[in-house]
Amino acid sequence: MLSPRQLFLLNTAQTSPSPRLLEIESAEGMYLYDYDGNSYMDLVSGFAVSNTGHRHPKVVQAIKDQVDKYLHLTVYGEFIQSPQVKFAGKLSSILPDSLSSVYFVNSGAEATEGAMKLAKRFTGRSEIIAFKNSYHGSTQGALSVMGNEHYKQAYRPLLPGIRFIEFNNPFDLDLISTDTAAVIMETIQGEAGVRVPDFNYMQSLKKRCNETGTLLILDEIQTGFGRTGKLFAFEHFGISPDILLLAKGMGGGMPIGAFISSNKIMSVLKENPILGHITTFGGHPVSCAAGLANLDVIIEENLFKDVASKESLFRECLQHPEIKEIRGMGLMLCIQLSSFEQVENVSRRCVENGIIIDWFLHCDTAMRIAPPLIITDNEIHKACATIIEALDFYRAG
Ligand code: PLP
Repeated sequence: MLSPRQLFLLNTAQTSPSPRLLEIESAEGMYLYDYDGNSYMDLVSGFAVSNTGHRHPKVVQAIKDQVDKYLHLTVYGEFIQSPQVKFAGKLSSILPDSLSSVYFVNSGAEATEGAMKLAKRFTGRSEIIAFKNSYHGSTQGALSVMGNEHYKQAYRPLLPGIRFIEFNNPFDLDLISTDTAAVIMETIQGEAGVRVPDFNYMQSLKKRCNETGTLLILDEIQTGFGRTGKLFAFEHFGISPDILLLAKGMGGGMPIGAFISSNKIMSVLKENPILGHITTFGGHPVSCAAGLANLDVIIEENLFKDVASKESLFRECLQHPEIKEIRGMGLMLCIQLSSFEQVENVSRRCVENGIIIDWFLHCDTAMRIAPPLIITDNEIHKACATIIEALDFYRAG
């Protein structure tokens, strides 16, 4: 008889030659538990998903309540489903007035796809400008705006009309023209190894988009829902997008995404032709109920209030000669080391010692720190001590 590990490798499609292969029995708050009774502190939040922790009781209750009422009823956009209406209403109440129309989808990549179509349709233009080292998802449209040839070349041809500019370089902004439908940007680049743009750069970018009639799409799929110390990272820069992309931390652990814009812009999807973007499961009622409960928790428990002081504590505790730099904002941090081998060794040792840590798609010489926002100061001390021990161990070794 095959073991769960063998069955996983045999029957579950694999995405890399070296999966982590932890088998988790349950998860709660900051921790995952395996079948041998070992606990693991989650320092990556399942890749920026579990902002309110794993299985927050209010999220779990909202899921149970909705399961008892109805699951899928019909395709998105036809019936009035109260979980969708309530969640969309809550989102638009906390966003700038121009972000009032929420299109629910199932994932981040789908939000990217929908937003790119919306921008092309609204402006009547086809060029899209994206950023070097960006990541917006793995479907073909999203892959087309990914700023890393290594992961794209085997899948060409992709979408034409995409240009790449350098992140945070004001001189490149002149490439945005009246031919450009949209600029798509992660407000803070995640997979590039957490790159924070300058305030002035963001102001100039928004100005240039306004001058040329180009829509600004901000991808807050990693940065949203309190991760950077504000509900959305664009709030740090005194601007707002024409189209906002959300997913990951949106559903409290359930799959959901959205692209959000004004009613005026969004209205082009409903005519000439009708059904400009459609989805069967987008805005699933259980995911919307979970998402609303999750957002209520973030706001009511003021989960983003202490994010800046938790960032400072991480920076204070993570002092080590092997750490070249700590980049990022709030609880979206990156520890820059020297090589992929070092990152692999240190993260493996951290996992062995009960701390889950990972690397970045476009920056494999750095380690990712993105814990649930509920992490306590004691847990930060413990996590940092484990990381420092692993750095010492491999330096000595
Ligand atoms: N955009 C950003 C900034 C992301 O980090 C990701 C996923 O890592 C995506 C989009 C794609 O989201 P999904 O994996 O839900 O398709």
